[in-house]
Amino acid sequence: MSLIIIGSVAFDAIETPFGKTDKIVGGAATYAGLAASYFCKKVKIVGVVGDDFHQKDIDALQKHGIDTEGLQIKKGEKSFFWSGKYHNDMNSRDTLVTELNVLADFDPIIPESYQDCEYLMLANLAPKTQQTVIQRLKNRPKLIVMDTMNFWMDIAMEDLLETIKMVDILTINDAEARQLSGEFSLVKAAAKILQMGPQYLIIKKGEHGALLFHKDQVFSAPALPLAEVFDPTGAGDTFAGGFIGYLAKVGTINFNNMKNAIIFGSALASFCVEKFGTERILNLTKEEIEVRIKEFVKLSSFSI
Ligand code: AMP
Repeated sequence: MSLIIIGSVAFDAIETPFGKTDKIVGGAATYAGLAASYFCKKVKIVGVVGDDFHQKDIDALQKHGIDTEGLQIKKGEKSFFWSGKYHNDMNSRDTLVTELNVLADFDPIIPESYQDCEYLMLANLAPKTQQTVIQRLKNRPKLIVMDTMNFWMDIAMEDLLETIKMVDILTINDAEARQLSGEFSLVKAAAKILQMGPQYLIIKKGEHGALLFHKDQVFSAPALPLAEVFDPTGAGDTFAGGFIGYLAKVGTINFNNMKNAIIFGSALASFCVEKFGTERILNLTKEEIEVRIKEFVKLSSFSI
């Protein structure tokens, strides 16, 4: 089944306690697309870059079978640029720079060949732009997953609330769930957010795993305790891409498949953090993913 991913395709400059990078390729749609491509063979990206973006980086997406017909290249303009610095706990970070550049007036064009898509991932982007994509699809996809971040809560809360109403699943991190709901307890936060429209809510808690809420059901997924975490950038997008990519592969949406999808998403995210940028998730093997899934199962299974 085919999957559209819309989101930022970007340059990032990252600083962690283990090192620093110059501009490297990042962006929410980049991470999510790569992660989804391990499960779903028809991943289609919608995004925009400037002509400073290298063809070899677009080729790398295409090598993963990702369709880039919906990726606009703006002549004479600069790609979106984000820079962040992680604290020592690696779980929190400060955004140092957000230069929207081509994203400032991004008008997402949906190629005709994308119109039959059944799954839609609205990766991190201005909520109004995310909404435009839903409106420009002739048929509503079977499943719409939306990711967002505090940046948009700070500057576009009204648009964000409107867009949240239109989606099936919202994925955000714990701090963002608290900001969005005004509640400290994640249980109370989830109850409030589920009233805003989505049927399902996933709260990502970094190295502490993720929670899935649906009506009165809750599922808690662990994160794999890793000896080395180099760079958490993109882990949330990788998680979301792995999650929806897996669901697109199995084709049936229910709570149980979603639980499995969370484990697949978490497994992909656990690879992402092992190296800077997209390096690790560019070259995974099926075997590596299978071994990691088994580690997740072992980590959290017990009998009483
Ligand atoms: P994550 O670590 O999963 O939150 O995602 C990090 C990625 O999000 C980076 O590669 C950035 O390029 C991208 N990003 C950061 N800020 C924004 C923003 N305001 N809108 C869209 N993408 C962003």
